Amino acid sequence: MPLSKTYEPKQTQEQWYRFWEDHGLFRATVNPQKQPYTIVIPPPNVTGVLHMGHMLNNTLQDVFIRFRRMMGFEACWIPGTDHAGIATQNVVERSLMKDGMSRHDLGREEFVRRTWEWRAKYGGVITEQLRKLGVSCDWDREKFTMDETLSGAVREVFVRLYEDGLIYKGKYVINWCPKDHTAISDDEVTFAETNGNLYHIRYPLKASQSSVTVATTRPETMLGDSGLAVHPGDDRYKNLIGQTAVLPLVGRELPIVADEYVDPAFGTGIVKVTPAHDPNDFAIGGRHKLEQINIFDISARVNDAAPEAYRGLDRFAARERVVQDLEEQGFLEKTEPHVHNVGRCYRCDTVIEPYLSDQWFVKMAPLAAPALDVVLKGHIRFHPDRWTKVYEHWMTNIRDWCISRQLWWGHRIPVWYCTNGESNKPECTRPIVSRTTPQHCPSCKSTALRQDEDVLDTWFSAWLWPFSVHDWPEQERTGKSADLRYFYPTSTLVTAPDIIFFWVARMIMSGLKFGPTFTGTSSPEKNIPFRDVYFTSIIRDEKGRKMSKSLGNSPEPLDLIEEYGADAVRFTILYLSPLGQDVFYSREKNDLGRNFANKIWNAGRFLLMNKDQIGEAPTQGGLNKDHMDLADRWIVSRYNSTVKDVVNGLDEFEVNKISKSIYGFLWHDFCDWYVEMVKSRLYGGEPEAVKQAVVSRAFDIFEGGLRLLHPLMPFVTEELWHNLRNRGPEESIMRAPLGVANESLIDLRVESEMSFVQQMIEAIRTIRGEMRLPPSTEIEVIMRKGSSQRSDGIHEYLGYLQRLARVRKLTVQESGPRPPQSASAIVEGEEIFIPLEGLIDPEVEKTRLSKEIERISGMLSGTRKKLENNGFLDRAPEEIVRKEREKMESLALTLEKLERNLKTLIS
Ligand SMILES: [Zn+2]
Ligand SMILES: [Zn+2]
Repeated sequence: MPLSKTYEPKQTQEQWYRFWEDHGLFRATVNPQKQPYTIVIPPPNVTGVLHMGHMLNNTLQDVFIRFRRMMGFEACWIPGTDHAGIATQNVVERSLMKDGMSRHDLGREEFVRRTWEWRAKYGGVITEQLRKLGVSCDWDREKFTMDETLSGAVREVFVRLYEDGLIYKGKYVINWCPKDHTAISDDEVTFAETNGNLYHIRYPLKASQSSVTVATTRPETMLGDSGLAVHPGDDRYKNLIGQTAVLPLVGRELPIVADEYVDPAFGTGIVKVTPAHDPNDFAIGGRHKLEQINIFDISARVNDAAPEAYRGLDRFAARERVVQDLEEQGFLEKTEPHVHNVGRCYRCDTVIEPYLSDQWFVKMAPLAAPALDVVLKGHIRFHPDRWTKVYEHWMTNIRDWCISRQLWWGHRIPVWYCTNGESNKPECTRPIVSRTTPQHCPSCKSTALRQDEDVLDTWFSAWLWPFSVHDWPEQERTGKSADLRYFYPTSTLVTAPDIIFFWVARMIMSGLKFGPTFTGTSSPEKNIPFRDVYFTSIIRDEKGRKMSKSLGNSPEPLDLIEEYGADAVRFTILYLSPLGQDVFYSREKNDLGRNFANKIWNAGRFLLMNKDQIGEAPTQGGLNKDHMDLADRWIVSRYNSTVKDVVNGLDEFEVNKISKSIYGFLWHDFCDWYVEMVKSRLYGGEPEAVKQAVVSRAFDIFEGGLRLLHPLMPFVTEELWHNLRNRGPEESIMRAPLGVANESLIDLRVESEMSFVQQMIEAIRTIRGEMRLPPSTEIEVIMRKGSSQRSDGIHEYLGYLQRLARVRKLTVQESGPRPPQSASAIVEGEEIFIPLEGLIDPEVEKTRLSKEIERISGMLSGTRKKLENNGFLDRAPEEIVRKEREKMESLALTLEKLERNLKTLIS
């Protein structure tokens, strides 16, 4: 069956993806004959839908995996999804809300059951969407962070860390969402500049008639003040240290302490200290043993710790009331507008309240030290490596990790408490931390036990992902221990840079901490979770704005795939994304990928047509080497150079260079030049044997190009590969060897000579076009011998000049005058002339050129005037001004050419 006229992605995509999955081609197994190459997917939220970030990230992973598979590695890409605690709980709560219910109406058990139900129904959406992109994940290995074995890993790790003294429960100021009623991690808070006020409040001193003034943006929190602080080096306030102030509205006595943390330049340089409602105040309070007074309930309403007048008020109502009372009682010195950063819950947009509560923490410093070491020593390499500095800074200033969440959906904390009220054994107050659900209190044997209500932060399962996907610590029982030993450490992690701390850093810590239990060695190189980390680009729109849902500037990848085809979308984003730089993206840019797919498709059609008509010489193990001429030697050299570029590019993680190199080879070298060059051999008077060798060689080279392109554009390459030659029913290009560069076939002299010939042909074609010579007109070319000595071998290439530029005769001159009425060009320093006498009517052409010059001059001066007009410049959008400038430049260039051509005719 001949190929259709244009490439039809839709059917091809479906058909081949099914083929790959049905034939188990994505599957990876332990194979001691091969070196493993492993990637674990950054598990998308189970509630997720494919966005641009996923699209870039997963295309890159697929490219790495497909290349390594074709290079002879046992390539294993492990997919899965994250249970995404708060996000998933919110989705289910919202659907309950439609029925006028809350999770409390259902109770915990039923709510969790419904959430599992939701997951069974909708949890596969994101993985189905990933399939549309063509990802070659080993779906048999798909995991979910709340699978039984992965939950086992979470419990195991919690208990071990607790036993090692690295997990503790404590009071701490955390980010509290008063709507979701849970602590959320630092990364779940989104900050935005907000217009507020800075309130200056007078605090009377106890021992004198005077007072001090403090400035705050959250005056209601003063109800929980337990001290004031100044910087120890601030000379203005030296005498205040050790004195006592009296808290307005409350009457509490506040010690004035000296603390390095205080910024003398902020406000008055005196700060109020509210240990229960500010993380920095919490730290100051800890250093000076100040009382922690929590004044809010879980909904951020004032509780009984505050004076009666404020109890029950919401925090914002309390703010108004406090300010009003301060004013009435003469404590408010002034109020001034103030722009400051306000943090909001990333799920529900409620303003976050720093809040003192009982939470579980992981001590990070002991875990961070070795994790920093492996990066500084180069066992793990970051690409681009500027992230190493960022990592180092964070790891040396690390804070303990709050891991408890007040949610219902997630891994419940494996801690129980004895609730036997009759026992008076002191051991009964100790938490019971256990891998399995305890049946009774180990001390009093009572069965009255209560499990901790909280669940663990979602990252607490995500940080174990590189080994929990192999069922650690259950791997012996599930038969996955060989897998864990073979596929761990993974090779490359591809991730967005914004989760370097929440995920990347913590995976390194957990790998080093728990790796020794299954690698059997304490050597860091064996226990690190991955060797290379590729940080993806940030995708921006053409105006440079980050793509986001709220701006509506982000296309939906599935729409793009529908419109352009998956290959086109993949190729375009790879082509546009240089390592470590932002991408400027727009929907229309996908034309690049689509045109490329069509170009390849047409080359395939051309080859197949000729195979039908001429036939193919028998293949000779990869490359037919009979009857090679310069163009053949050149394309063979270019092919091998491209293979080399690709392999080097992979080592350096320069995927965008790889895509440019392959694009250049297939589009420019193969389609634009080589195909044109072999045409004349195929359609000329060469013997059949030569023609068949040419066809066979063109097939070989094209097939090699398809293999190079396959990891970037899997579908169109598979379709063509199956059409080019007869393949077995199980065969796939994705399992075909990529091939290695044959250095002996890279001939830089041939490449440079061909480049000269190409430039010459282009220069001649340009002149032909500008002088409007019809395609049938043959021309003569006179070449002036220059310093590059290119002219020495030029007669060897005369055939190409004849076929591709209609050159009838080529003369090389040592010197001499410029031929009359001739056009000229300079190619690599060599001057060429094309005599036009007899080819065109100089008078007609002169008239045409003069008229054209007049017309373009008119347009140019119009554009120039516009751009000199300040009114236009002020009013017109930047975009329009830019376009107008481009237009002016292009008109000037055209005018220059026309004038040059006119001069040629007059001389
Ligand atoms: Zn919230
Ligand atoms: Zn007990």
